[in-house]
Amino acid sequence: ALIARHRMRSSSLCVKAADIVKELEEKCATPTAKLRQIADAMTVEMHAGLASEGGSKLKMLISYVDNLPTGNEEGVYYALDLGGTNFRVLRVQLGGKSGIEFTEFAEVSIPPQLMIGTPEALFDYIASELAKFVSDEGDKFWLPPGRQRELGFTFSFPVMQLSIDSGTLIRWTKGFSIDEMIGRDVVVELASAMKRRGIDMSISALVNDTVGTLAGGRYGNSDVCIAVILGTGSNAAYVERAQAIPKWHGPHPKSGEMVINMEWGNFRSSHLPLTEYDNTLDAESLNPGEQIFEKMISGMYLGELLRKVLYRMADEAALFGESVPPKLKTRFILRTPEMSAMHHDTSADLRVVGNTLKDVFGIMDTSLSTRKIVVEICNIFATRGARLAAAGILGIVKKMGRDTIRDGEIPKTVIAMDGGLYEHYAEYRSCLENTLDELVGDQLAKHVKLILSNDGSGIGAALLAASHSRYL
Ligand code: BGC
Ligand code: MG
Repeated sequence: ALIARHRMRSSSLCVKAADIVKELEEKCATPTAKLRQIADAMTVEMHAGLASEGGSKLKMLISYVDNLPTGNEEGVYYALDLGGTNFRVLRVQLGGKSGIEFTEFAEVSIPPQLMIGTPEALFDYIASELAKFVSDEGDKFWLPPGRQRELGFTFSFPVMQLSIDSGTLIRWTKGFSIDEMIGRDVVVELASAMKRRGIDMSISALVNDTVGTLAGGRYGNSDVCIAVILGTGSNAAYVERAQAIPKWHGPHPKSGEMVINMEWGNFRSSHLPLTEYDNTLDAESLNPGEQIFEKMISGMYLGELLRKVLYRMADEAALFGESVPPKLKTRFILRTPEMSAMHHDTSADLRVVGNTLKDVFGIMDTSLSTRKIVVEICNIFATRGARLAAAGILGIVKKMGRDTIRDGEIPKTVIAMDGGLYEHYAEYRSCLENTLDELVGDQLAKHVKLILSNDGSGIGAALLAASHSRYL
């Protein structure tokens, strides 16, 4: 076996690093024609998911948000934002016509063991952070006697909503996996943890982060009708005509509209440019077979894809010397912020790349040509992710019929964007913007715009708590 292994290794050493890069580049290619096919597939799946429950990989979840903020909301409201790497508590003071007067927030990172522990441990942790936040404010925020504080809960996982303030968890995504929680009402869990902590607050709205971002975005810009998150995970929400939701049997909303949480992370299509690295990443993940689109485009996975390629190059092309640096074998050791830092390295000797390889993998000396290869791989995955995300957005724009000139008028479509990947990974972001312009074409490009809606999901949840206040 030893001899066989040796023979295999020496023959595969002939595979040059450059060949691996070239092969990767080809497999990850996203020519415009392919992106158009993907956008069309997205539109088709949207129709199918709206037609019947379980009709598509896209859940197209009904959010029970049939009115977006008007700008008249008033009062102090709270929000909890759980779903990515960080967990946030916010207090927002809404001043009616004068807008948001004040926001304050606390942010903590979620201890990883809580993501795979028990429902009680996770929700107790959340409730205790909330308790701290509220007790720190003393009596700064006066509430009329008998009036409870109200909270919007942004919970960024697929939830089957039963109403604006209840819903059961369909499945976990990203790094979370707490089996016992599946099928349980997340508002009930949060409310009981709050009770255990003695917090006197009621939960007025349960929203996905995309829905929160849509609400927050609309508050600041009345042309916002789509929201996209590109962070740890990825997803989109948009405003649909109630008439166009055959699976909805509830009362027809007065507005005639309903916000749909697409859960686009679970999109899948034969047109997606999947590689062997994607397939292994998926197979090793907490949720194999699920969230395939998310695994190609979102922040949780890009760094890991890069690591996988580097590992193969170390193993088969001795990119980092005779033996494979042991840390290169550790899954998720390379995070997307570090990948982004390497990708944006502008120094002549690619110092940032060299230092990152040293710090993360303990690889001491790398040649300039090796560093260049690393940057190239960053570029391949970031470009693929950003272009696919743009195709997804085009799919939504098309579904909404906003890709064509109507009666001589071009509708304005503003897409509220949030998430660390979009916010901090400049190359990804500009590639996404350019690709979307390219896809919609010159004439429309001026009318389809992305805006960063920072903290949109938390503020949006507070706004939705305000508009669904039980004191209205
Ligand atoms: C979740 C979505 C969420 C997205 C962004 C995905 O993994 O399924 O519900 O909106 O991440 O946070
Ligand atoms: Mg978030």
